[in-house]
Amino acid sequence: MDKVVRSLCADLISEKSVAWTVPVEIARELEATFMRELDKAENAVTKPVGPRKPLVSRSSSIVSAGEGESDVSAASDASPGPGAPRPLGGVSPVGGRRMPVHRRKNRGRNTPGGDESDPATPPPARKGKAARKWDDSSISAEDAQSLDYSSSSLNLAADSRIDSVEHLVDQASLGRTNRDGSYVPQELGNPSATASAPSKMPAFLTSVQNLFSTSRALTRADLEPVLAKMENHLIGKNVAAEVTRDLLESVAVALEGKRIGWTSVYQHIRQALEDRLQRILLPSAGTDLLRDLQDVVRGDHRPYVMVMCGVNGVGKSTNLAKITFWLLQNRVSVLIAACDTFRSGAVEQLRTHVRNLRALVEQLGHDDVKIELFERGYGKDAAGIAKEATNYAKANGFQTVLIDTAGRMQDNEPLMRSLAKLTALNRPDKIVFVGEALVGNESIDQLTKFNTALRDFSNQADPRDIDALLLTKFDLIADKVGAAVSMTYITRRPILFVGTGQTYTDLKRINVKVVVDALLAA
Ligand code: GDP
Repeated sequence: MDKVVRSLCADLISEKSVAWTVPVEIARELEATFMRELDKAENAVTKPVGPRKPLVSRSSSIVSAGEGESDVSAASDASPGPGAPRPLGGVSPVGGRRMPVHRRKNRGRNTPGGDESDPATPPPARKGKAARKWDDSSISAEDAQSLDYSSSSLNLAADSRIDSVEHLVDQASLGRTNRDGSYVPQELGNPSATASAPSKMPAFLTSVQNLFSTSRALTRADLEPVLAKMENHLIGKNVAAEVTRDLLESVAVALEGKRIGWTSVYQHIRQALEDRLQRILLPSAGTDLLRDLQDVVRGDHRPYVMVMCGVNGVGKSTNLAKITFWLLQNRVSVLIAACDTFRSGAVEQLRTHVRNLRALVEQLGHDDVKIELFERGYGKDAAGIAKEATNYAKANGFQTVLIDTAGRMQDNEPLMRSLAKLTALNRPDKIVFVGEALVGNESIDQLTKFNTALRDFSNQADPRDIDALLLTKFDLIADKVGAAVSMTYITRRPILFVGTGQTYTDLKRINVKVVVDALLAA
C-alpha cells in the first residue's frame, strides 16, 4: 500500500508525467494526506511506525515511468508493400489517444535513500523535500551533482526493458508512404471529408444576404457591412487585428466588381481566404524538412542539426519525440541531445522516449536505423553539450541531431542569452519554435521575443533567428485556429507541423482547407 501511494504521488508530482496534469501543490497536499492516513491505518494495526522515507524525486518517477518490466511486444505481422513502413503494433491504441500511462514499478534502485526491499536498510527520517531553487543564477557543482540523475554519459542502461509500445502509435493517425518510399505524416483534420463536405453558411453572412445580386457589380461600399461582420467573426477566432485586416482585404479584392448571387458568395469568400492563407501558412520554402535534411547529409557529409525551443510545458520534448518517430519511419538515424540541463526529469523523459522509439524501430524492422540519447546530466553548459552531441553524431553515422532545450520565459534574459549562445555556437540548420496553439495570441509575444533575443544576444554579425514553427495542442483548440494563422503571418515563418495529441503519430501537416473551415465555422 505504502508503495502504491508513493508511486501515485510521485507520478502526480512529476511535472513531466505524460499522463497526469495535476498541479504540483495539489499533488504534494495529496501526498501528505495519504501519508497521514496511512500512518493512522498502520498504527491501528499496532505496527510500530518509523519515520517514512521521502517520496522518490520527480525525475526518478519519470525514469521509472519508462521502465516497465515487460518485454517489447511482438511486431505486427501485417506486411505492407516494399519500402512501405510496417504498421506498428498489432492493436489499436488502448484507452484512447494518450501517451503511455506506464504502470509505475517502484523499485529501490531509483529511490533515494536506499533499497526499500532491503529490511536491513533503515528507512531515513521523513522530512519535507527541500525546495529546489529555480532561478537564473548559475548552478553550483553541488546542485549539478544532485541534479545529475544520469548513470552513464550516453545512451540507455544496457539492461533497460520497456512496457509494450503499441498504444504510443495511433494506427488511424499513421501517415502515408509516397511512391519514393518516404513516409509523410497525415494532414490536419480529414481533408478528403472537408474538401467534399457541403459548406455551411456562416452566421455573419446570412445577416447580409440582401446585398448580393447578380444584377449589378459589387462595390467596396456594398462590401463594408460584410467585411465589418467578418472582422468581428475572425477576431473571435483569435486572429490578430493586423492579420484580420489582411484577410479582409483579400476577400474585398476577390469580391469587388463581381456580379455574385447569394448562392455563390460563400464559395468566393472561402476561395479568397484559402488563396491568401495558402501563401501565409505554407510558403513554398522551408517546409520540406526531409529534403533539406537529405541535402545536408548528402551534400555536406554531416548530420542535420535542429534545435527545438520555446517556453515551459508547451510540448517541446514530446513533439521532438514525434518528429523523431517520423524521421525513423523515413530511415533517418537520430541522435537526441538532452540540452535541457536545467529541469529535473527532462533527461529521463527523453530517455523514456528513446527507449520507446527504439522498440518501435525494431517493430518496423529498420535494422539500419539508429536512435540514441546523448546526455551529460544536469547543470552543465547546454551549448557545449549540443556541440559534443553533433561531433558524436558525425563520428557515429547519425544523419540528424535533434536538440531539446530548457523551456524558458521570453522575458528571462539570462536564459535567453544561453539559448542564443547555443544557437551561435552550433549554427543549427533549423531552429524550431514550439508554441501552444492553445495560448492564443500570447504565443505571438513569445515568438517575437525569442526571435529578438536570438538576434540581439548572439554577438554575431549574421545572427540567426527562428526558422519554423511547430504548434502543439491543436487537438484542444476547437475552431480557435486564429493564433496559428497570426503567428505565421507576423513572423513570416512557416508551420512545419502541428501537434494534435499525445501519441507519436499525433504530428500533422497543416491543411489550409481545414484552417479555413475552422475560421469560417459559426
Ligand atoms: P516541454 O516542457 O515543452 O518539453 O513539454 P512536454 O513535451 O513535456 O509536454 C508537456 C505536456 O503537453 C505533456 O503532458 C505532453 O503529453 C503534452 N502535449 C505535448 N504535445 C501535445 C499535443 O499536441 N496535444 C496535447 N493534447 N498534449 C500535448
